[in-house]
Amino acid sequence: MVGCQQEKTASNLPAFDGQKAFTEVEALVQFTPRDAGTSEGWKAAKHIFQRLETFGVDAEMNTFVDMTPEGEKTMINVIGMIPGKKKEWIILGSHFDTMPGIDDFQGANDSGSSTGVLLELARLISESKVVPDLGIIFAFFDGEEGIAGYVPGDGLHGSRHMAVQLVETGDHKKIRAMILLDMVGDPDLQFTIPYNSTSDLVQNTLNAAHTLGYRDHFTLSRSIITDDHVPFLQIGIPSIDLIDFKFGSKPGLNDHWHTEADRLQNISADSLEITGNITLQLLKQMAFM
Ligand SMILES: [Zn+2]
Repeated sequence: MVGCQQEKTASNLPAFDGQKAFTEVEALVQFTPRDAGTSEGWKAAKHIFQRLETFGVDAEMNTFVDMTPEGEKTMINVIGMIPGKKKEWIILGSHFDTMPGIDDFQGANDSGSSTGVLLELARLISESKVVPDLGIIFAFFDGEEGIAGYVPGDGLHGSRHMAVQLVETGDHKKIRAMILLDMVGDPDLQFTIPYNSTSDLVQNTLNAAHTLGYRDHFTLSRSIITDDHVPFLQIGIPSIDLIDFKFGSKPGLNDHWHTEADRLQNISADSLEITGNITLQLLKQMAFM
């Protein structure tokens, strides 16, 4: 008789550990600052690539040259892939570069927090050996930060590059959703989902938050936000930006954003854990059916 191993299902996925995600942020911010096109930026990309490989996730470093207000820069997206049973995919995204021009800037929240959560999700899913129905692409974008106010050709370089590649290969037709995480480490975690997010995904997110008892952490914003989900919306992929744009010394303030106060001691492992668990719940609803 041949032994029969029961297939692992979503119920075999463990809960998300915020402390492990925090450790990933700590490791990433060794590269400080990691502005696009700089040697620390390259080292950060290589580090993310190596973490994915360590977790057993197929990974690649996708180098490209893009024009910026300071001339051409060489940038690098890091892509990890966990294939599913179907040839369809969900993209989870985070940028990993830092805002240029800020002295001693760690960017622990912007962009360390979302990068740490994505890495820990990649580890957790890969090591669980649960095969999702839809494949999961972990996209770590370079060059999100603009230096001249996100005018055309400034900022969103990595996400725009990936969207162009998807259209060129026709693979955009196989992407069911794009979920972007950004600034998810504030101890006072209050997501304000921007108006330019796809309504079905907003509803799925609110359902996931409600299921986990985290609904109070979400409000819907009437404003649009220019972030890495926009290039995917523009090519017809349902997309959402899970962002807590107010990062400050007190609830409601944004005085830590793009300042040297964006440091490890001002972000919270609990907030990473809430974000990780909500994203995992979203994936259970959408990718592990
Ligand atoms: Zn920023």
